[in-house]
Amino acid sequence: MANIKYNRIILKLSGEALAGDRGNGINPPVIKDVAQEIKNIYDLGIQIGIIVGGGNMWRGEAGAEMGMERAQADYIGMLGTIMNSLALQDILESLGVPTRVQTSIEMRQIAEPYIRRKAVRHLEKGRVVIFAGGTGNPYFSTDTAAALRAAEIGADAILMAKNGVDGIYSADPRTNEDAVKYDKLTYMDILNKGLKVMDSTASSLSMDNKIPLVVFNLNEAGNIKKVVTGDTIGTTVEEK
Ligand code: UDP
Repeated sequence: MANIKYNRIILKLSGEALAGDRGNGINPPVIKDVAQEIKNIYDLGIQIGIIVGGGNMWRGEAGAEMGMERAQADYIGMLGTIMNSLALQDILESLGVPTRVQTSIEMRQIAEPYIRRKAVRHLEKGRVVIFAGGTGNPYFSTDTAAALRAAEIGADAILMAKNGVDGIYSADPRTNEDAVKYDKLTYMDILNKGLKVMDSTASSLSMDNKIPLVVFNLNEAGNIKKVVTGDTIGTTVEEK
């Protein structure tokens, strides 16, 4: 039996993780690989909450830059995260993983509304809970939703799966060859150094609630399992 480091987790997947090389939209074969990785830790008995982003569909900021009202543009983004969540639910269930989607914006015909106590009950009963719709508020991000739901459900850690980047660097490793990877950081380091890991609202919320964050590369098979079983990969952010 594998050693388990984190029994209850929030896994944050960006919208990009569901899009594959195309960069936008939903790509079922790509989601299937991600879902299989999730199943592998589900089979270890890990309680899993998932927050899915929506950047593959729409970004509120981009809408605002094109002249839309920011709040309205953000609501479109939140709806994008719900589409992604339904796609992930479908594919997880096709692999035999029981799931529930809970939305922060009520949509009773297609998902449950977010109810914290019910979400915890689902986790205890062995259902993966997909939290859709972000925080339900404009001007926020799904990273903040991850920090918020992690605090609410008492998660042991937030697993932030990145596409093709294996941790937190001093600069963007894709454009700067002098970028240095960090193995360990504190949330204060992220805020002080202005590192682009999660937005500052998400970082300060996780800092205040002392929830560890592990940033790792989603594109290497087995990585989610490595994180929950305590292999040191990626970058761990923890308050000392
Ligand atoms: N969004 C929002 N409030 C939230 C979460 C998301 O307004 O609590 C909107 C926002 O417009 C954002 C979009 O949804 O640009 C997609 O979410 P995000 O950028 O966090 O997705 P990711 O980058 O993880 O794919």
